This record gives sequence, C-alpha cells and structure tokens, in this order.
Amino acid sequence: MHTEFIIIGQGICGTWLSYYLQKEKRSFLVIDDNQENSASRVAAGIINPVTGRRIVKTWMIDELLSFLVPAYEELGDHLGINAIEQKSLVDFHPTPQMKLAFDGRLKEHASFLSQSADQNKYTGIFNYDFGFGEVDPCYLINLKQILSLWRRKLLSAGQLIGEDVDIKRLVQTEAGVTYKNINAQKVIFCDGIHSAGNPFFKNLPFALNKGEAIIIESRGIPSDHIFKKGMMLTAIETDIFWLGSNYHWEFSDDKPTEQFRQQTATLLNNWLKVPFSIVDHKASIRPANVERRPFVGLHPSQKNIGILNGMGTKGCSLAPFFAKQLVDHLLYKKEILPEADITRFSKILAR
Ligand SMILES: Cc1cc2nc3c(=O)[nH]c(=O)nc-3n(C[C@H](O)[C@H](O)[C@H](O)COP(=O)(O)OP(=O)(O)OC[C@H]3O[C@@H](n4cnc5c(N)ncnc54)[C@H](O)[C@@H]3O)c2cc1C
Repeated sequence: MHTEFIIIGQGICGTWLSYYLQKEKRSFLVIDDNQENSASRVAAGIINPVTGRRIVKTWMIDELLSFLVPAYEELGDHLGINAIEQKSLVDFHPTPQMKLAFDGRLKEHASFLSQSADQNKYTGIFNYDFGFGEVDPCYLINLKQILSLWRRKLLSAGQLIGEDVDIKRLVQTEAGVTYKNINAQKVIFCDGIHSAGNPFFKNLPFALNKGEAIIIESRGIPSDHIFKKGMMLTAIETDIFWLGSNYHWEFSDDKPTEQFRQQTATLLNNWLKVPFSIVDHKASIRPANVERRPFVGLHPSQKNIGILNGMGTKGCSLAPFFAKQLVDHLLYKKEILPEADITRFSKILAR
C-alpha cells in the first residue's frame, strides 16, 4: 500500500494535520489506537485568551484567534456540528489581591476584560466574597464530537487504522519510510506524550504534566458561561459539567487520584449553592515542554520524519494554526514560525 504521509495519532494535532492534508487532496493514512485517556479526550476544550495570576494575554492569542475561529467553524460545517462556541468566562476573584490584579489590567486588555455592574448576579448559584470579572471572548471546542466524527469519516474512507504503532517496525528507506505493508514518503508523529519516548524525538525538552478533571451533573448551573474560581467549570453536555484542572510535573502514573477527588469535592461544596453529583473522574498527561512552545517540523537530520506536538495546556488554540503551517511547509516549503520550528533543537536532535 502506498500513501504520501503516515500520521501517527489522531488527537487534536493529528485531526487538524489530516484535515489540512485532505483539503489539499493529498494522500495519507492515520494510525491511532484511540487511547481513552489521551490528553485530547480528557481536555475540556477551553480557549482562554487571558490567563495566570498576572492576568496576561497568552502567546500569539490575537493571531491565533483570528485563524482558529473560522477554522473550527469550517471543520464544524464539514462534520455537521457546532465545533466552536463563544462563551464568556466569569472569573470569581478568589482573594482581594486577585480582584485588584484583575482591575489593574482592565484598561490594558479592554478587548477581553470587563467588570460587570451587577456583582450579585450569581449569588443564588455560587458562593463568592470578592466579586467577579468577565473574560470575553473565550471559546469552548467540542473536542468529543470533533475527534469521534473525524475518526468515523477517516475509517469509512479507509484512511485510518485503529492500532498501536510498533515503532520498531518503522523503517527508513531511500524513498521514504515503510511501516508493515505501508510505503510512505513521510511519517509525522502526532502521538502526544509518546513522542517523549520515541527514538527520533526523545531528546526534545518535553516536560510532561499530569492533570485531572471531575465530571458533575447539576441542573442549576447556567451553561452559557465558563465559571472559574481556582478551577474552571464548564458545561460539556446538557446538565453535565467539566471541572478542572491541576498541574503536576511529578507523578507515577496517569490515573485519577483520591486526593484530587477530595480536593474538588471540597471546592464544589464550598462554591456551589445548587445540588450536584460527581459522575466521573478522569486524568491524563499533557505533552508539555520547558519552553511552552510547540514542536513543529521535520527532523533536522532525518528528512522523512516529522512532528506536530508539544501543545502543552493549549492544544485547542495551537493545533489548527501549526497544523496548517506544517502542511504548507511539507507541500510548499513555506517557513514554520521559528519559535515553533524543531530545527531550533538541531544540535540535541543530532545526538
Ligand atoms: C486535564 C486536562 C485538561 C486540559 N484542558 C485543556 C483545555 O481546556 N484547552 C486546551 O486547549 N487544552 C487543554 N488540555 C491540553 C490538551 O489536552 C493538549 O494540548 C492536546 O490534547 C494535545 O493533543 P495531541 O494531539 O498532541 O495529543 P493527544 O491528545 O495525546 O493525542 C495523541 C493521540 O495519539 C495516539 N497514540 C499515541 N501513541 C500511539 C501509538 N504508538 N500508536 C497509535 N496511536 C498512538 C493516542 O491514542 C491519541 O489519540 C488539557 C489537558 C489535560 C490533561
């Protein structure tokens, strides 16, 4: 079997990469083992343009937003779903200091931040002592449906094989690469945290990061906003809400922990005035890295091996933009943004 590209992994990176290759009418085969707790399957899908204790705009957010909103709308039309939803984020200030910090940024980030005149708007639903600010626009990506519907389309077109890639069987040849009975010009790794252990990219400065989320059922919480008080709470289905997350650089496995379950149960009991029940608990590991910049491009010394990875906490906003850059690079030799291009690691990748 011949194809131009083998893509390993169909998380949000492999989805966008294969989507843009298909738009260019190029041949590819995706191989994905559909891990239930991959980062893209556990993530909420939130895009929050202004984050952190210092309330700063995230890297490249203006440029990313003007690209990703029409991109997700287009993908949604293709799949027959609402792939992206604009929501404002209601940020309950956890301390008086955080309220001051938020207020201090209002002018500078006026296109995103505002302070509601009605600070009692949510007193029937939430406990909060120091008011709230709003971040708007934020977005929620319908990851669950995007991943499953795109997978179904690829499967029915014979463009996806559902199996665990045995990397030892990937062989480089004069013409490209072979994997079992598949001959391809190039293979692109979109395999999330697994690239950190593969022979081609293990030297990249991955800094894997574990996160957990609780899924609750509740009838009394509005679904048209994302709410935040230490953690994010957002509707993902009717009456079903995602609450997360935490960030651990040291961990022994990718399993949900009792500690997080207790911590979130306490947070919810103190925060929510409406009844709720915990219906699920998930954990995953983010393909994060030391620089907090993506890994995009072809291996500097192995020209038929590429990568789209390193999205860290921001896969939803970074993946479409950099998938398009990678496709333009592969097909038209266009330059990848230097901060994301893996040739910046030529020396360590040559080891
Ligand atoms: C708790 C949590 C919350 C998050 N919330 C958000 C959020 O709200 N917004 C946001 O933008 N980001 C969020 N993230 C980060 C986001 O999930 C990641 O940035 C993104 O999902 C990474 O996508 P990926 O495609 O690189 O990797 P993955 O999603 O891990 O996809 C890799 C794919 O490759 C497959 N695979 C791996 N190895 C093999 C192999 N050997 N053979 C075959 N298939 C293989 C896996 O099954 C998987 O399908 C969150 C992460 C966590 C853990």
